[in-house]
Amino acid sequence: MALERFETDILILGSGGAGLFAALHAYKANPELDITVVSKGLIGKCGCTRMVQGGYNVALNPGDSVERHFMDTIEGGKWLPHQELAWTLVSTAIERVRELENEIGCFFDRNPDGTLHGKAFAGQTFDRTMHKGDLTGIEIINRLMEQVWARPIGRLEEHRALALIPAVDGGAIAGVLMVDVRTGEFKYVAAQAVLLATGGGPTMYRYHTPSGDKSMDGLAMALRSGLSLRDMEMVQFHPTGLLAGPDTRMTGTVLEEGLRGAGGHLLNGAMHRFMGDYDDKLERATRDVVSRAIYAEMRADRTTPHGGVYIKMGHLGSAKVAKEFKGMVDRCRDCGFDLAGGLVEVVPTAHYFMGGAICRTDTATEWPGLFVAGEDASGMHGANRLGGNGVANSTVFGGIAGDVMPAWIAANPGHRAADEHVLEAEVARALHPFERAGGDLNALREKLLDTMWDDVGVVRDRASLERGIAAIDNIEAELLATGIHADTRVFNLTWHDWLNLRSLVEISRVIAFAAHRRENSRGAHFRSDFPEPGDLATSRFIVARQASKGIEISERPVEFTHVKPGDTLLDGRAAAE
Ligand SMILES: Cc1cc2nc3c(=O)[nH]c(=O)nc-3n(C[C@H](O)[C@H](O)[C@H](O)COP(=O)(O)OP(=O)(O)OC[C@H]3O[C@@H](n4cnc5c(N)ncnc54)[C@H](O)[C@@H]3O)c2cc1C
Repeated sequence: MALERFETDILILGSGGAGLFAALHAYKANPELDITVVSKGLIGKCGCTRMVQGGYNVALNPGDSVERHFMDTIEGGKWLPHQELAWTLVSTAIERVRELENEIGCFFDRNPDGTLHGKAFAGQTFDRTMHKGDLTGIEIINRLMEQVWARPIGRLEEHRALALIPAVDGGAIAGVLMVDVRTGEFKYVAAQAVLLATGGGPTMYRYHTPSGDKSMDGLAMALRSGLSLRDMEMVQFHPTGLLAGPDTRMTGTVLEEGLRGAGGHLLNGAMHRFMGDYDDKLERATRDVVSRAIYAEMRADRTTPHGGVYIKMGHLGSAKVAKEFKGMVDRCRDCGFDLAGGLVEVVPTAHYFMGGAICRTDTATEWPGLFVAGEDASGMHGANRLGGNGVANSTVFGGIAGDVMPAWIAANPGHRAADEHVLEAEVARALHPFERAGGDLNALREKLLDTMWDDVGVVRDRASLERGIAAIDNIEAELLATGIHADTRVFNLTWHDWLNLRSLVEISRVIAFAAHRRENSRGAHFRSDFPEPGDLATSRFIVARQASKGIEISERPVEFTHVKPGDTLLDGRAAAE
């Protein structure tokens, strides 16, 4: 097989907040190194960092503290987060947001006294979500993109990473196999250090928010490489995905958390404000609680015409809503809804993946030379990601990866020879659908969306998960028997749909296995047959890895290195505020 081969020093997979921050920090740490960013889409135009609406959590303002942000993160995560990772997230977010403003060139909204304005986000005890209106991600990613363009950082856009390739002696990563989407040609890029930052993205659910380029490729590659993944049962559903009917791709896209934070009401089909029936915090309860409440209304058939519930903002003053949530109001108007003054139909939508590759606080994985950051990494959020902690996570740990990789290379210099057998097998794997007769890929995708939504979704039980696992096995078997109607690899998007589906199916199975193993309910994971959270003091997290006989699931105890369940880092007065 003809294969173009290149070498770089640092290879970064993904051009979201994690990937671009890593590139900038690595260049700052050692401008002599050759750095290459690979992106499935166009840099600055793909991934979810660009889609960030609400904002960025950081404890900056008087009355808030790193300890308070940490406690919100741990309690929101239902005592499952890796506390060192969570601490690194909340403490480093402060320097990262200053860097975003003072070095990268972002400009966030301010209070009259010039300090950064923090908006209210659900599930937090302080209004600490910094933002640029309600389209914060565009500001962040555009400025990051300009900074990357201004430096001699290599870019492989519209290149899809296919596999992480080990060194021939198996001791470390040697490089990455990828395909140029435009030409269909395979490339092997050898690198001294590789960052996995492809951004997760649970797009295997009927309703989902992430960008279309995200299909869990990074975690599928990590799984195949034998890496351990944690918290894979933890899929976050955002309660308010736009429900605009089956004829628009806008269905599922998110209406930001700040709407509930600002005082928006949720009404069922009978116009009853139902959140009071489920939680004292009403609409400001955490995402998991609100999503489950909406799901329960849906199951009880108390729904709107398209089968969801309504969000209502008009009682806050339509002019105010139109000013403060311009992006959301425009989006709803495009779909024929009046968010400022009327009712908009919404539904829970798969939004964020808390699971991912296990890593240390310096982003190193168990595989020497491979680092992970952003939504591909796990442990920071436990059972629930606070709104605003996602983009903080990708920029904090992307920056750390960029600091660490040059140092790792200095201590472990040189490129390693690739295992050519693995390389060859991975090329053959990617070409699999060309050797089969074409079939109906879309029908298979629809089956996966329904399976995950119905059986592995907002509410699960043993029977639904077992049904889901059996269905996923069938979908995979059908996919492997289904080819594509084409004989060219040039810009062959059907081929990429096939590859996307394969990644999604593989990770869907891991989600279902991990959910089957966790026999309690924590945060985003709710088992109707085990509705209690279990003993917090003996909390365990679930680990999944690919073994020769299939997915191997184990459990490990959570280490409470900063605070134990029942304790707090806040003094009595601060905690009560
Ligand atoms: C609609 C929406 C709104 C959100 N709002 C907020 C918010 O208000 N606050 C908040 O904190 N978080 C929010 N989030 C979450 C936040 O966007 C993510 O947590 C964060 O941006 C992830 O950053 P990342 O760098 O890991 O991934 P991304 O920004 O998603 O980037 C992933 C990159 O990897 C590339 N990629 C994928 N597969 C491959 C492959 N096989 N080969 C090569 N490249 C690949 C993609 O093209 C992309 O460039 C929101 C998410 C969505 C979807």
